[in-house]
Amino acid sequence: MKSLYVHFPFCEAKCHYCDFYSLGRDRVRPEDDAAFIAALGDEIRLAGARLAPELDTIFFGGGTPSMTPPDEMVRALEPLWRFTRVTPATEWTMEANPSSISLSSLKGYRALGVNRVSMGVQALRPELLSSLGRVHSREAALRALGELFEAGFDNVSVDLLCGVPEQSLKDLDEAIALLTSFPITHLSCYLLTLPPHHPMHKLLPDEETQLEHLLHIDQALRKSGFEHYEISNFAKPGKRARHNLNYWTGKSYLGLGPSAHSYDQQAGVRWKNVSSLRKYAALLKESSSPAEQVEKLTSEQREIERWLLALRLEEGFPREWLDTPARSAKAELLQKQGLMEPHPRISERLRLTSRGFALSDQVLASLI
Ligand code: SF4
Repeated sequence: MKSLYVHFPFCEAKCHYCDFYSLGRDRVRPEDDAAFIAALGDEIRLAGARLAPELDTIFFGGGTPSMTPPDEMVRALEPLWRFTRVTPATEWTMEANPSSISLSSLKGYRALGVNRVSMGVQALRPELLSSLGRVHSREAALRALGELFEAGFDNVSVDLLCGVPEQSLKDLDEAIALLTSFPITHLSCYLLTLPPHHPMHKLLPDEETQLEHLLHIDQALRKSGFEHYEISNFAKPGKRARHNLNYWTGKSYLGLGPSAHSYDQQAGVRWKNVSSLRKYAALLKESSSPAEQVEKLTSEQREIERWLLALRLEEGFPREWLDTPARSAKAELLQKQGLMEPHPRISERLRLTSRGFALSDQVLASLI
């Protein structure tokens, strides 16, 4: 496995919309930080032999990895280097939040080997930040972005949300203009989705407005020189997220930490760790695997996954996959509806249009 994901389970406070496994500071006991670092070391010793001698990509996600100071990270990763190593070509991404970094911590992460930062900004208008439960201000977000470049990072991604209640196209334009005034190389823009029982669910904009947001962002970022290379992801040429591309092209990856997912391409097996720091630490203390769900993919599941992954990428899929008259007819209809098109640069491939990306759930349901 040449790709490694590590899940850091702590956040300053739980954002109102978040369904990732993470603990806000109010739910963390003083001993939890040390317990996490010790358990992570144990998991590395248990699973590290699965890693290739050299890593292609590392991704520190969460949670908020930037809440773990660089010197603690050095200690946490010590057992890893017995199994694998990074090279100058390794893409090493760390997620960060504006309120949990400083110029000196950023320099520390860089010294450790981190060479790409993905910053959770989500919005810049103060009212939107507060309705989302983000702990940072607009000023803090812009200051943090400045500090990233000052610390020497030149591969920086930013996360933005659209479809937020009360968010306007003007808010999106302003956010994009401010964010792209920095030399960011990548931007992920996710449509805010919430379960029906969530108190904010009834405030979400209607489908037409959501579509308008997604198409507006597509246009604005293309105009700023970004490629729309995946449903929710935009990159400057040559700056696509390699770690995520490994997921989307079905390659193997090892996930460490509570709630982390792993996939073994050769065996067609995926598994997920327990989504509880305490259970995770307790299992590893007795040298047991923290995996709670192990699934061997059936050939039908692998086939569906092949389609799901290909359709989310700009490269699309080869025409020969339209192997039944029913599928060909559906692809024909999707092209008539302006949701799919022949790839303009790669012959014999079809891909989703910008509108197809924005309505990808509908396209996937129809085609698969
Ligand atoms: S900072 Fe990220 S991981 Fe943490 S609660 Fe907010 S959205 Fe979730």
